Amino acid sequence: MAGIYRFINTNIPTVGCNLRCEYCYIKQRGNENTMLKIDNSKQLFRYSVEHMIKALTVKRLGGVCMFNISGSGETLLCPEIVEITEGLLKNGHYVALINNCTIRSRIEQLAKLPPDYRARIFFKVSFHYRELKRKNMLESFANNVHLLKNSGIGYSIEIVSNDYVLEELEELKEFSISYFGALPHVLTGRDEQIVGTYPRIQTRLSPEEYNSVWSSFDSDLFSYQQKAYDLPHSEFCYAGVYTGTLLLETGDFHPCPGTKKVTNFFEDIDNHIEFVPMAHSCPFHHCFCGFFLHVLAGVSREYDPDVYFYQFRDRLCPDNSTWLTPTIREAFSHRCSEYHQPYSTDKAYYIDLLMRKIYKGINPSPEEETELVRIVEKYLTQKGYRKIAIYGMGLIGEWLIKLLQVANIDVVCGIDRRWAEIKSNIAIQAPEDVIPSADAVIVSVYAEFTNIAPLLRKKNIMPIISITEVVF
Ligand code: SF4
Ligand code: SF4
Repeated sequence: MAGIYRFINTNIPTVGCNLRCEYCYIKQRGNENTMLKIDNSKQLFRYSVEHMIKALTVKRLGGVCMFNISGSGETLLCPEIVEITEGLLKNGHYVALINNCTIRSRIEQLAKLPPDYRARIFFKVSFHYRELKRKNMLESFANNVHLLKNSGIGYSIEIVSNDYVLEELEELKEFSISYFGALPHVLTGRDEQIVGTYPRIQTRLSPEEYNSVWSSFDSDLFSYQQKAYDLPHSEFCYAGVYTGTLLLETGDFHPCPGTKKVTNFFEDIDNHIEFVPMAHSCPFHHCFCGFFLHVLAGVSREYDPDVYFYQFRDRLCPDNSTWLTPTIREAFSHRCSEYHQPYSTDKAYYIDLLMRKIYKGINPSPEEETELVRIVEKYLTQKGYRKIAIYGMGLIGEWLIKLLQVANIDVVCGIDRRWAEIKSNIAIQAPEDVIPSADAVIVSVYAEFTNIAPLLRKKNIMPIISITEVVF
């Protein structure tokens, strides 16, 4: 496999930055090195780096992934960033670091890693021209980019479209050509406050002026975004399976930014991870992550099947060298979807209606219910599960109980922390109680499965499965 099995957006809880760009939308805390603390401890992360790396093996994730790491501030200021990067590379993954390329000491540490590790690192270099100029850091920034190049680390230089730099665009271009051999790619600067259905482009220019100014960089990244910026979507989306957002602080995993947690990677690490797609229940009218997740991960439709992610990142320099290394260019020349089978019709149907219930609260129509009952009965019978206990008696638990009862599968009991308050036509018990004779327990609270299942396993020997893996 030359490409990436899953593209995992990975957030680290750093909020400080050594720069102060005018257009920065990250909420900085005033202190250069302020870091978020969790649980009032001094640690940034709930788990040790060793534990996190152990949880993120190729085997557990199903294939070689790219961890696209960024902080809510300067990524390389995170004290553990080199250790995390090295651990992921040692596991066999790729690591992309979104950063401002000014933290020399960290770049030097990465440049000393073995050549095979360096080949799988990608630096997404954010080029903050005015701020670097104001701080007299342009030369040192360029030296850092040269260190990447000389160390065999792939990189791409990118600027965010913004009005502040309009007066200095020509000198920015000259600097870029002379130091980096090409113009930077351009990312559309957007207003993070979503008004209506999609973030607005942040500019005082007219659409025609805006397009004309930034098209002059001849960046495929910019032109693709212009084309695909606010197209509505309605397809089955595999975000959550081909891609997702991992909060390194806790291990919580979400299909897409702004969606609900589906699992946790760092609890229960001896067991497999159940990945769950958004299906047709994307909460956004317009795809928030368009160019990344469609072009690199292939989560659903492809606006243009001939567009590949390397086009948004690479540049050819006058000496015929390129910004991307061959390894990274190859990885960006594929989509994650190439390495996954699409879901079976039954699985897609089941997950789709389950996610619709979770995100939109919609119950199945009578026809849909008939089909769901058929599917659930078929898969549980194949496994030999005719007597089921349900963990979690909320709306999703009730949704499943109804299907099981219509399918004539015996629901032997419900289990819930609020057991004493719940009125039901089935027996309800506490999680600590031993479960009566059942072929399996299905946990309806799927986002908490990784902390519920280990507790249930302590006293019970039957299989414990998540509601999301009923159809396998
Ligand atoms: S480098 Fe990034 S995080 Fe730091 S001030 Fe600039 S935009 Fe904000
Ligand atoms: S924002 Fe885009 S990638 Fe994310 S769930 Fe919605 S459609 Fe899928």
